[in-house]
Amino acid sequence: MDRANSLDRALRDRAAAVIPGGMFGHQSVALLPDDYPQFFAKAEGAHLWDVDGNRYLDFMCAYGPNLFGYGHPEIDAAYVRQLSVGDTLTGPTELMVRLAEEWTAQVTHADWAIFCKNGTDATSMALSIARQHTKRKTIIRAKGAYHGAAAWCSGRPAGTIETDKAFQILCDYNDVASLEAAAGEAGDDLAAIFAAPFKHDAFVDQHEPDLAYAQMARQICDRTGALLIVDEVRAGLRLSRDLSWSRIGVQPDLSSWGKCLANGHPLSMLLGSDKARKAASQVYTTGSFWYQAAPMAASLETLRLARDTDYLERLQALGDRLADGLKERAQAAGLGFRVSGPVQMPLFLFDDDPDLRKGFCWSSEMLARGIYVHPWHNMFMCAAMTEADIDGALEAAEASFAALKRQAPSLAPVAKMSFLAGVR
Ligand code: PMP
Repeated sequence: MDRANSLDRALRDRAAAVIPGGMFGHQSVALLPDDYPQFFAKAEGAHLWDVDGNRYLDFMCAYGPNLFGYGHPEIDAAYVRQLSVGDTLTGPTELMVRLAEEWTAQVTHADWAIFCKNGTDATSMALSIARQHTKRKTIIRAKGAYHGAAAWCSGRPAGTIETDKAFQILCDYNDVASLEAAAGEAGDDLAAIFAAPFKHDAFVDQHEPDLAYAQMARQICDRTGALLIVDEVRAGLRLSRDLSWSRIGVQPDLSSWGKCLANGHPLSMLLGSDKARKAASQVYTTGSFWYQAAPMAASLETLRLARDTDYLERLQALGDRLADGLKERAQAAGLGFRVSGPVQMPLFLFDDDPDLRKGFCWSSEMLARGIYVHPWHNMFMCAAMTEADIDGALEAAEASFAALKRQAPSLAPVAKMSFLAGVR
């Protein structure tokens, strides 16, 4: 796609003057193929339009928030209705209590809820509450697992100092021995174990949680009095109508949620069990916009749809259709191609592709055919996708695999991904 004279290019040039680096954070396209658009104009259902008018079937779903479709009529009507009544006020509305009642009824381990805005608010609050509850300092978390952009958990060192990450021990996800060793190292100072609901790190294959690992995390916390925290920010509502670990029968003490909680409206939350209630009431935690009523109205509607529709079964069926169809077509093309993780949140990687040159080429080919996929981050299915959308994506995939095969012998190294040599 030629973006040389595009509106996207013009916006990037303007952004370069007034936004540091031209763009910040996880939605920067700095680590995507050069033809990926940075700026978008509108979205509807499962589709997204860039500023130059190109339409895409969007497998990123805003990096998670889009669960029921962009601009969902019932959810957005509830949001707009509440906006006209009252949103950011001097105190919360009745909706905050109702939302806490409904979410604690929905999620098995939860007895209380605190609402906030971003996933990082919820994970950082979980950290403080665990330390207050135990009066201890040390936490265990898995190497490579993302829990937000705060200094205590950011994966990027710029702007942080060593003490930001003091009292943390890293273990390997799904590795029971390494979890036990970390607990041994923490000794009598263990405050919490953070766990991702499944291994959904960037750049590498995803893995379901190993039951023995999840159970060991629970056992260590029970034995030591530490709190078990499951970070459901990314996976919430896509794998289960309850916390995703309820499928393997392991309940945490705290769980952090965000992303699709209000189908794209700004809301996140921390759920907790009675055990952590006192500490949660002692830690001072707040934000100017944490009590907004309109996103809470949207979340009530999102939760109603989650309870009353077959969206979850549809996500699974659509995800299976996509994953099976892709594997079949890649195999037919003679390409080693892996779809990993739960099918509702798949990640695609090619075999023998250390700097992602195959992944970049194939993703660009998909983009040119109106399908927005990501070459190294997990994607998200949304309930507004149809079987016909998936079949269209598979058709595009077949043509893109063929295009990749043609280009493969002459593909140049992807210079911007050369750092991966040390990561993968
Ligand atoms: N935890 C997980 C597992 C996440 O995926 C994310 C966001 N990608 C966060 C926490 C942080 O959420 P936010 O960006 O809303 O602060």
